[in-house]
Amino acid sequence: MSTGVAWARHLRRRRGKKIFQQALTMYRFHRTPFEEIIENILSVMESHEAYFTFPTVASTATQKPDLLKKIIHQGSEIAVHGYQHVKYPLISIKDQESDMIRALRTYEKLGIPIKGFRAPYNSYDSNTAELIERHGFRWDAGIGYLKENREKTDFFKVIQGNRELSFVCIPLNELSDDLLIDELHCSPKEMVKRLCHALDYAKKSRGVIMFDLHPIRIGQAEYVGVLDRILSYGERIGGWFPTVSQAVEIGASKSDWNGHEFCCLLTGDVDNFYFRDYLRRLG
Ligand SMILES: [Zn+2]
Repeated sequence: MSTGVAWARHLRRRRGKKIFQQALTMYRFHRTPFEEIIENILSVMESHEAYFTFPTVASTATQKPDLLKKIIHQGSEIAVHGYQHVKYPLISIKDQESDMIRALRTYEKLGIPIKGFRAPYNSYDSNTAELIERHGFRWDAGIGYLKENREKTDFFKVIQGNRELSFVCIPLNELSDDLLIDELHCSPKEMVKRLCHALDYAKKSRGVIMFDLHPIRIGQAEYVGVLDRILSYGERIGGWFPTVSQAVEIGASKSDWNGHEFCCLLTGDVDNFYFRDYLRRLG
């Protein structure tokens, strides 16, 4: 930890108190090994016959290929979350494309099937959508976080010029674990209340709702019960909880969510497995 402490001090000097506090919280969360975090999530998903989608940074994925295979084996899904966790708008179109290609090659080598993409930080520029199409992704799960898209209740497509791009986009709800835990300081009970309220809205609109619940938080023993409770509630009110690819491939839409009242896509980005990598990204 001495390196960690030194880094944390460096951060406090350079980036201020908020980042320092956040780093301390992440240090605490990273004391739970990722094997345990994923196990906690998968066992809840399994008990509900539900599936989770993990957009994962490809350079991180190479550190624990067996853990990713376990996810696939349960029926859940991995998607590309960049090769590195960089903000695409800050790099050139050429570098965005290299990052995407490198991520796809990495997953191909690991034998992990890939259909979807979510840019790091849900951050896109005017070039990113065409690259997503060019590299054959079937869906994107980050464009839906733009303010004008968040409140949508069905899959949608990006129009560029007068052309509709081929891949499917999904609205991404603003109730993320970061917002609920780090910013609003919700208790698990309060999180359940807010998330279930969002599910009620999805049912009412007979639409699709997608959450980004990062495994580093939601997979902790103290929070994994939230996942269990929202699944129980969602099932009770007629929800369907597939992977993003299952929902997209079945061509589900508002007219028919595979025989259910509405569709809920549980996703959570894996940015890094280790605290030292988290710090490296901040530093
Ligand atoms: Zn991320």
